[in-house]
Amino acid sequence: MSYRDILVKLGDTTVEKVLRIYDLMQAGELTYLEAVGLMSTLIGTSQAKAVALAETSLAAELTLGTRTAVGVISTGVTPDMKKLRGGVRVVLATVNSTPDPEGRIGRMARNLTYAAGADAYSEGVKRSPLVEGWERNLEPDACQMCVWWWRDGRAWPKDHVMPSHKGCTCTPKPVFERGIHSVTAKARVRSNRDRIIQDREAKSNG
Ligand SMILES: [Zn+2]
Repeated sequence: MSYRDILVKLGDTTVEKVLRIYDLMQAGELTYLEAVGLMSTLIGTSQAKAVALAETSLAAELTLGTRTAVGVISTGVTPDMKKLRGGVRVVLATVNSTPDPEGRIGRMARNLTYAAGADAYSEGVKRSPLVEGWERNLEPDACQMCVWWWRDGRAWPKDHVMPSHKGCTCTPKPVFERGIHSVTAKARVRSNRDRIIQDREAKSNG
């Protein structure tokens, strides 16, 4: 199973468990505060799992890509429990005024799980001394936004964080070839030169 398959499964289980807590709260078996505590702990646990999954998947990808054994890089991405509790509290407090409370809660649980994996993946790519850059590995059925971000497989320097959206499972595919920096540097020089020419033209026209 691929990173993405496992991440989606992890998302599914998280949604299931979080909705069970919501049902118990609705049935009066859990208080609002108890539900907030349980949901945020659950999502935090899933986030930690997504981070570990991203770190191991990246290590495997780097091992295959460089044909040398690459260990797991610790990305330092950890669940922010305070932020999680705040987010869950806001959603639970307002969810009954939305047309689809369960959908709203489910999306929150899934998106936060995916986001932790995405953060760790990007951070790992950035931290690996073997990696020069990345190109977007599109999720199946990628949305228009992601296809646009893909730019026909363009490689970006590793310091450039891969753009993402809620619920996105695209990953930065490591690129090992040197010269990504110089390519973008050249492009930068070119655009600078164009700007100077344009400025000059604007001045001579004005
Ligand atoms: Zn995407």
